[in-house]
Amino acid sequence: MEARDIAALVEARAAEYDALARTIWERPEPAYEEAASAALHRERLAARGFRVAECPEMANSFIAERGSGKPVVALMGEYDALPGMSQACGAVREPLVAGGAGHACGHNLLGVGSLAAAEALADAAEASGLAGTVRYYGCPAEEALGRIPLVKAGRFDDVDAALTWHPADVNTPHRYATNANLALAFRFRGRASHAALAPSAGRSALDAVQLMNLGLEFLREHLEPGVLLHYVITDGGRKANIVPETAATSLYVRAPRASGVRAAYARVLKVARGAALMTETAFEAEASHGKCDFIPNEAIHGAMARAMAAIALPSHTAEEKAFARALAATVDRRDRGASLAMIGAPESLLRAPIHEAVGDYGRGFRVGGSLDTGDVSYVAPTGQMNAATWPLGVGAHTWQACAASGSSQGAKAMRWAASVLAATGYALLSDPALLAAARTEHRRARRPYRSTMDL
Ligand SMILES: [Zn+2]
Repeated sequence: MEARDIAALVEARAAEYDALARTIWERPEPAYEEAASAALHRERLAARGFRVAECPEMANSFIAERGSGKPVVALMGEYDALPGMSQACGAVREPLVAGGAGHACGHNLLGVGSLAAAEALADAAEASGLAGTVRYYGCPAEEALGRIPLVKAGRFDDVDAALTWHPADVNTPHRYATNANLALAFRFRGRASHAALAPSAGRSALDAVQLMNLGLEFLREHLEPGVLLHYVITDGGRKANIVPETAATSLYVRAPRASGVRAAYARVLKVARGAALMTETAFEAEASHGKCDFIPNEAIHGAMARAMAAIALPSHTAEEKAFARALAATVDRRDRGASLAMIGAPESLLRAPIHEAVGDYGRGFRVGGSLDTGDVSYVAPTGQMNAATWPLGVGAHTWQACAASGSSQGAKAMRWAASVLAATGYALLSDPALLAAARTEHRRARRPYRSTMDL
């Protein structure tokens, strides 16, 4: 089957996919609360002949399969929204629900796009008599723990190739690596006393937090290149006339590789111990989530680039272009190039409101952020792509991204991504040499998997 025939399978159900993505956009559920969004995905896949099983490792996660045996091609979807990012589908900041959640990372599109890809791939594989399993992973809470519990439970161990995508402002294979990270909370405990009547009786937990953060500032210079530290004080005491008994700081450690996160953490721990020693306080460190770096698979990304070239990009109406232009105009001109520069895409793209070409960006780049696809890429050859669901220059986690994720630009790009993923999956199922190349590359690049949360 040709790539454009696979795209036709997606387009034949365009109205159904668009409606599903819009429904999820209208009812955004933040991480760990995506019960209704996950159920919509499960019900749809079950109705299309997938065997659906929920995973006990994490609420709202599930696996859906069609076909049988090897090879196993996985498609990964997500559906969590971001707290506080509620936004109408318009070009001015206007929350639909004050303080409510919103799909400012476009996961309403991500989940349904990968679902559409799984359906089209399973249909195409059956029609062509191809052996193998098409498996959809429903991955909740991307903005927190994400796929990590599923990877740690071994649920990706038999996967021959894993595919996913992310909403973005450009169309490109995700050739760039990401940082590994670890999110930590340090809670200090001292002794309360009256800050004026008995300061000598107090042992300030806030002093410990401040000394720890100051220590991190000195440590920063002497860490390996590329290691990032960022923190906020989440508990600084209640009242200035009470020596704080408890205080807490929340810290992210990021490094180009998972092993680098562990090495940096060992030194961060010494800083915390020093702060506790100086202030005669005690502390506990807790890892809330952590991700491995993403190892891009060139063989899969090559197949993805070929599918991107073969499948016609969406065309946009004058109305859609005007909306994109209006949305982009609300982003500071100096910030508009940021999402492009970090993956080596030319700033000249910004002359158009929407990316209407296929780019091939990011080879050799590493972005500062982290992805839960990283852990998957340690255990299976993994490919990811971006599709232009948002106007050029609009970044993730913004109200503009939320607005665009509810628009027809978002829906069209979602279907294009679904077609590209399905065609890439079809190439992997039908071309043993391609799959072998992906596997060999993965074996060569492979680093033994250990979650950054396993300290
Ligand atoms: Zn996201």
